[in-house]
Amino acid sequence: MATLFISDLHLDSGRPDIIAQFLGFLEGEARAADALYILGDLFETWIGDDAPEAGLGEALAGLARLTQSGVPCFVMHGNRDFLLGAEFCRQTGTHLLEDPVVLTLYGEDVLVMHGDALCTDDRAYQRLRATVRDPEWQRRFLALSLGQRATLASAARDGSRAHTAGVSYAITDVNADSVAGVLRAAGVTTLLHGHTHRPAIHSLEVDGRARRRIVLGDWHDQGSVLRWDRDGYVLAGLPRAGGPE
Ligand code: MN
Repeated sequence: MATLFISDLHLDSGRPDIIAQFLGFLEGEARAADALYILGDLFETWIGDDAPEAGLGEALAGLARLTQSGVPCFVMHGNRDFLLGAEFCRQTGTHLLEDPVVLTLYGEDVLVMHGDALCTDDRAYQRLRATVRDPEWQRRFLALSLGQRATLASAARDGSRAHTAGVSYAITDVNADSVAGVLRAAGVTTLLHGHTHRPAIHSLEVDGRARRRIVLGDWHDQGSVLRWDRDGYVLAGLPRAGGPE
């Protein structure tokens, strides 16, 4: 039995192939897992639990079937779906995870984050993050009509795309000092996160101690999963039928 980690699926009704792969994953290896952790950006957008996007009902039902089968499922907010709330959890049987959080996996303490908070070279993004994670801002946003929220979310996506296209690859990656800082503060060897869509296992040293940073991949062209069991962990791609090799 393994604990599974995924992130950055960016589920969206316009990509039924990704939704289908996710449903297959939930019915398949996730059913045999000790637990499933979704570390942010499960959805491309989420403008409130009262406004599930058409076409995502199957994904919610799949999560509910998984949790009803007895597999615990934990969901962390990403920068796209930070408005996932109590009603989503009730509907799916999932639990929200704080970001950051330290999990104990088969005896090892692991620091787990979505990862966007580590991209501190991107000052404009960090300012935006501080705004939209403010409870008062969220309260006001959720009080808007669905149409107003959808319009704002679409403008935010366009703005984010233009911003990412306009800054260098390095700016949108994690900052090394921020990584060292969170590892030091948590007092752990291993950091696990998503967000950057750059799956890898990095070795680094902080305060003379060997550490590692595991980065989950996104599900754009194929899936990505980290399987962790008592023998260790494997970061694997999940090929998609009809997708690239
Ligand atoms: Mn993200």
